[in-house]
Amino acid sequence: MRIEVENLTAEGKPFEQTYAPGELALEDEFAALVSDVRAWGRASRKSDEVRVQGSLQTSVELRCDRCLGPAPMPVNVDFVANFVRAGDPVAEAGELHDEDLEVSVYDGHSVDLDELVREQILLALPARRLCRDDCRGLCPACAKNLNTESCDCARHETDPRWAALAEIKDSE
Ligand SMILES: [Zn+2]
Ligand SMILES: [Zn+2]
Repeated sequence: MRIEVENLTAEGKPFEQTYAPGELALEDEFAALVSDVRAWGRASRKSDEVRVQGSLQTSVELRCDRCLGPAPMPVNVDFVANFVRAGDPVAEAGELHDEDLEVSVYDGHSVDLDELVREQILLALPARRLCRDDCRGLCPACAKNLNTESCDCARHETDPRWAALAEIKDSE
């Protein structure tokens, strides 16, 4: 869905859009949409500047960093996005806005809501992805999932990083 800029006013116009999981490509190989994405809000315009304020809800399945299993995550985001017209010399010089205000560019006619929603979902994904906080991960020796299985591999309780530190200590 594209929001036509010409029709927008300073008071704003409401929008609402639902995407099936197949309609938005997240382009993150370890994140997949597992439910519809609902997005709604208001879009307004002052001269050539467009502001899209909204919310979105969906759920995403990530891959757990430790056990590589599925890690489901609900996504509930409120967002504000500002757009300036492409080619606007003042806007492109970056003089119009303070640094912490996120500004994108639109083509002069319309704002791509699909792209905005996709970006907002990606921004909401955590850097550290775990299926649960206490995920035990995979055995480094036999690769069994230690959440569901046990193994007889000699287990050092230490994290590899601590082991590396211990080696340094030993050599001192
Ligand atoms: Zn896990
Ligand atoms: Zn093992």
